[in-house]
Amino acid sequence: MSDITNLNTENEGNTEEKVSRNFIEQMIDKDLAEGVYDTVHTRFPPEPNGYLHIGHAKSILLNYGLAQEYGGKFNMRFDDTNPTKEKIEFVNSQLEDIKWLGADWEDRLFFASDYFPKMYEGAVKLIKKGKAYVSDLSADEIREYRGTLTEPGREDPGSNRSVEENLALFEDMKNGKFADGEKVLRARIDMASPNMNMRDPVIYRVAHMTHHRTGDTWCIYPMYDFAHPIEDAEEGITHSICTLEFEDHRPLYDWVVRELEYERPPRQIEFAKLYLKNVVTGKRYIKKLVEDGIADGWDDPRLVSISALRRRGYTPESIKMFVDLCGVSKAHSIADMAMLEYCIREDLKLKKPRMMAILDPVKLVIDNYPEGESEMLEAANNLENEELGTRMIPFSRELYIEREDFMIEPPKKYFRLFPGNEVRLMNAYFVKCVSYETDENGEVTVVHCTYDPETKSGSGFTGRKVKGTIHWVDASKAVLVEVRLFENIVDEEKGVYNEEDGSINVNPDSRKIVKALVEPDLAKAKAFESFQFVRNGFFCVDYKDSKEGAPVFNRIVSLKSSFTLPK
Ligand code: ATP
Ligand code: MG
Repeated sequence: MSDITNLNTENEGNTEEKVSRNFIEQMIDKDLAEGVYDTVHTRFPPEPNGYLHIGHAKSILLNYGLAQEYGGKFNMRFDDTNPTKEKIEFVNSQLEDIKWLGADWEDRLFFASDYFPKMYEGAVKLIKKGKAYVSDLSADEIREYRGTLTEPGREDPGSNRSVEENLALFEDMKNGKFADGEKVLRARIDMASPNMNMRDPVIYRVAHMTHHRTGDTWCIYPMYDFAHPIEDAEEGITHSICTLEFEDHRPLYDWVVRELEYERPPRQIEFAKLYLKNVVTGKRYIKKLVEDGIADGWDDPRLVSISALRRRGYTPESIKMFVDLCGVSKAHSIADMAMLEYCIREDLKLKKPRMMAILDPVKLVIDNYPEGESEMLEAANNLENEELGTRMIPFSRELYIEREDFMIEPPKKYFRLFPGNEVRLMNAYFVKCVSYETDENGEVTVVHCTYDPETKSGSGFTGRKVKGTIHWVDASKAVLVEVRLFENIVDEEKGVYNEEDGSINVNPDSRKIVKALVEPDLAKAKAFESFQFVRNGFFCVDYKDSKEGAPVFNRIVSLKSSFTLPK
């Protein structure tokens, strides 16, 4: 997609051999050494309000990886405390994605909504301790009372209520006596705190909404900053890893677990989100592309949701390699798509057969090959990996080659076919161009060659050498299939967001559909199977649009790389 390679070399854990431990590992090492914790228990807590993306993959693999590294546990937990945007469709897709990535939560699948009774109890406990009160202020008033960075906030009139009155009002909130927004429960902390999150944050609100799991049981819902530490503490999480935007919320996290008197409270650790240059990552923005019909669903292969990457042909191994290369850091950095592409090439290079497919065909006729005859030629599936074995491919007088592999008037250093030149047909014979035909527009329609039977591939022929090798398919046996070639869905020249209205700058040509001619064996390819098409890239069978005997191939990545590993 992009040619720029700006790997952030400052990240720790960047080199292949991990020389230094990343800052999270260092913190955990210290905790274990000092006996703060005697085990490591992490979790991945997504909100089921969309599909997961490559950024989430980083968090999943980080949390799961740490649990594995320290022989600890990893929980899967849905943070479903906001019923407005959550759907069961998202719960299911997220579980599928996490499983596919290889993170195993064993029997520990939890839902924040399972803790609603605990959270309610926690709120009552705070009220009884004089640490929470019911407020009558509207959202706007609360904002106004909160003050600014330079001015302290003002006391909420509700903060003078007695414990008894607060208990009664909070119960009324729970029992549906108030309309949405009429009352909230606030933690009593410090209206003059330099940290705005500590100025008596709202911890419960009234919302008459049906929750996808608890139905109409509740009409009050806890706020994220109150709910999350309780979820972690209830599950015995030791290290609650989240992204940097929660750094300023950590004092509140600590306050909640302290005031609720959890014995061995979890520790929140923040790291920088993963961003990709010129790529739409945030759930909100991917959703917009889907809703606007620019992408065909959350798994459109041009997106970087996990389901899209899987559909396109990315592997869990390649994604793991990528997040490892990115490293874990407190400093914001932007990774390049070229690095992710490098990872999938590395992963597939030795694992996949190298087949022949012609994306832009022109006919080649071997004038001296007997008409009506054909033969089967043996071809190695992957010259760098013998274990992949060999296959037989049909060969006869009429073939197709790539249009770009023939030129009437070649430039210097062009070693492919041109009048008078001899090349090797991959896995077959040497052919020499003797003439060509063109249509009325001067476009080449047929290339005529002669072949030398002595030069058969694998025959040990050493008589002479040629400089170029080109691929081909047998015209009578090749199968016509649909191939989709992708570019970035974002217009890279303009960048992701339009500065004027915040919309996404879309590349109108991000998907090109071509009819390709492929080796007959490829017609049998099954959904999610992937191959290298020599010179053209790696391709994967689309699981949605393919039919039995008529696969549709998505190009995962071309073979040209603009990325190299830093030394
Ligand atoms: P988005 O803004 O893309 O929707 P989010 O943070 O709102 O992301 P959540 O479902 O709340 O999504 O996130 C689940 C977990 O994944 C959180 O711990 C969050 O910090 C982490 N996460 C989300 N985006 C990234 C990212 N780009 N890089 C690393 N971790 C991420
Ligand atoms: Mg979110």
